[in-house]
Amino acid sequence: MTSARTRDRLVQRLKDQGIRSRDVLEQVRKVPRHLFVDEALSSRAYEDTALPIGHGQTISQPYIVARMTEALLADFTGESVLEIGTGCGYQTAILAPLVKRIYSVERIRELLQKTRQRLRDLDIYNVQFRPGDGWEGWPKYGPYDGIIVAAAAAVVPEKLLEQLAPGGRLVVPVGPPGRQDLTVVTRKDDHFEQVSLGAVSFVPLVAGR
Ligand code: SAH
Repeated sequence: MTSARTRDRLVQRLKDQGIRSRDVLEQVRKVPRHLFVDEALSSRAYEDTALPIGHGQTISQPYIVARMTEALLADFTGESVLEIGTGCGYQTAILAPLVKRIYSVERIRELLQKTRQRLRDLDIYNVQFRPGDGWEGWPKYGPYDGIIVAAAAAVVPEKLLEQLAPGGRLVVPVGPPGRQDLTVVTRKDDHFEQVSLGAVSFVPLVAGR
């Protein structure tokens, strides 16, 4: 169930759906998604679907992780990425070898604790974690060349815009349940440019810790 052929099938599916980045596809092939879900679900880990990870949260669908990573890294020349909503760390693991440094914020401490260990076991060391409220970002290490948000915000979070470096890009699902739009905001010299990549379905970006 976790064989090379099963993973290749997932990669082919993502290609068929329009994912073009070789780096991203290679990462989807490499990252052992079955280690990010409960053992009882590991036989479904290479299906292109979201799965429960406890605490009412989910591991994102591989297609969406690939789409968001591709959008974040298109023309990317920077070094640092802020991730909001670490969860089980699957998105983090896909992204980690493709950028220099990741700063990742998660509000559920228990999830974060397990994820820290999981990524260490996978020899991923360029990530710093923090329990906290993603609406606040993580000012200490900003501004960031890229920001990626794994939960749906009611509006584009103002603090995240403030922590975006010039030329930097914020990828965030925006909108109420059932009407979320995957949004990409790019910081230009004196304004922000916003485009929509289409409808998505995420757990909400909860307000406060
Ligand atoms: N990145 C994960 C997806 C996690 S689901 C993956 O690769 O599969 C979204 C995560 O966002 C959940 O773990 C949830 O606890 C977290 N979250 C929701 N609201 C948040 C907030 N305000 N601040 C930080 N994390 C938040």
